[in-house]
Amino acid sequence: MRKNQFVIIGLGRFGSGIGSELIELGYEVLGIDKDEEMVDEMSSVLTHAVVADSTDEDVLRSLGVRNFDCGVIAIGDDIQASILTTILLKDLGVKKVVAKAVGELHGRVLEKIGVDRVVYPERDMGIRVAHQLVSPNLLDYIELSKDYTIAELAVPKCLCGVSLHELNPRAKFGCSIVAINKPEGIIIAPTAEDVLAEKDVLVVIGTNEQIEDFEEAIV
Ligand code: ADP
Repeated sequence: MRKNQFVIIGLGRFGSGIGSELIELGYEVLGIDKDEEMVDEMSSVLTHAVVADSTDEDVLRSLGVRNFDCGVIAIGDDIQASILTTILLKDLGVKKVVAKAVGELHGRVLEKIGVDRVVYPERDMGIRVAHQLVSPNLLDYIELSKDYTIAELAVPKCLCGVSLHELNPRAKFGCSIVAINKPEGIIIAPTAEDVLAEKDVLVVIGTNEQIEDFEEAIV
């Protein structure tokens, strides 16, 4: 099966980060930026990198942008360029368009003109960092819904040598441990006999409240 091909417009910190990672993951990436310096920096990393103004429809056509499976618009500060580029990519028929928004209103406009996914990197990172600041063991988390979360928690020293039977988070807090990520490998659906050790990471699922209670108890 042919692998998806990506076009990234705007090779600032966000766009170049996505592009480099997609290349690492084995995908083909065309990068576009109107700034020659940005393009020079990324030309040895990406499959192709070109200097072009993405608000120029003819340029996008000549680059064959419509043949790409996914377009990422990583233009932040120039909201007008972000919006015009979004409309052009949608009109050209790019199947999936993802765009970065610098603020709530920018995001709302992008949604109204049909972006498939709006991302708010600064806001989302700010929220993540705030969570990590108040929960020292929290490494990462995914919000499953407004109420439910999957959290990755570093095992604190006080839990080393403790079995899941002794910890018993389900009975004490209502949340469940779905995996233990150990340096030697991940244990999915661990049993009551599994014992925690230093450098282990717990993957916990539950309501936000249950996870918070559990985190507080294991600090
Ligand atoms: P970041 O915060 O990710 O660095 P920026 O908004 O600073 O994001 O960077 C966006 C990039 O998008 C810049 O490198 C800029 O040159 C590029 N860019 C802005 N407008 C256009 C445009 N019309 N066509 C192509 N590239 C553009």
